[in-house]
Amino acid sequence: MRWAANVIQTGYSLWELFAVQALRIATVSPFALTLSFLISSLFSGPALAEHPSESEVVQIRLSMSNVYLIRRGTRLFLVDSGSGSDLLRLGEALAREGVQLADLAVVILTHGHADHAGLAAQIRRSSGALLIAGRGDRSMLEAGANAPVTPTSFTARLILLLPIDANYEPFRPDIEVDGELDLHAYGLPGRAIQMPGHTPGSLIIVLDDGRAFVGDMILGGWLGGALLPNRPNEHYFHMDVGRNRANIAVLAKQPIHRYFLGHGGPVSQEAVREAFAMDGAGR
Ligand SMILES: [Zn+2]
Repeated sequence: MRWAANVIQTGYSLWELFAVQALRIATVSPFALTLSFLISSLFSGPALAEHPSESEVVQIRLSMSNVYLIRRGTRLFLVDSGSGSDLLRLGEALAREGVQLADLAVVILTHGHADHAGLAAQIRRSSGALLIAGRGDRSMLEAGANAPVTPTSFTARLILLLPIDANYEPFRPDIEVDGELDLHAYGLPGRAIQMPGHTPGSLIIVLDDGRAFVGDMILGGWLGGALLPNRPNEHYFHMDVGRNRANIAVLAKQPIHRYFLGHGGPVSQEAVREAFAMDGAGR
């Protein structure tokens, strides 16, 4: 593992910090909430790159979420696309890795929320990349809008008050995963598996070497990843909270050693088992 020198624009994690402060001080002042949104875009975070096997993973923190560049030889994959407003940030981040949008071969979306799928249509236009997403999120992707979610905490209810854009350019994925998709045929040693819970078509990507990309199934740390990003936590929203928790229980029994998350992370399997009170031994 190495810490890349590049610094990439980030800030989602601080939204909440400012939102909570603003709410406490100004009693839900729309001005304070909007200010927190603007200030958050000024903060930056590092990119994390690791390559224990032949698949190098680079974590890129955008304005609201992480995306991941995976290099497999000369073939380039992107997990998630970022928000619609992240095009410049993503282009700059990729350029620091010596990559252009046009170089991407495959984009795999963990789910259809705007901060994960918002740029997918633009990336496909720029690169001709193959877009892969879960079948269950088709209606969301074709509408270009977030479907209703259930908040899992008081903080989550506060976030719902923020002026977050839930709309994006709609599109139809090139490949829809309904069940499981072997990614070897596309040049990536791993599988994409649909696990409805966070959204109806949430996908995870599990590499053969035991690293997994699980989107918003798990949140890294608190305040969107600002505090203790390597501590697994319940995400703020899910379509089905119980089903999402059941998904985590399934993965806790798998030979996964590292989870890459949509916000914060990465986290270890041991930390996931501890955080969600799972022993991983067949419960
Ligand atoms: Zn989400």
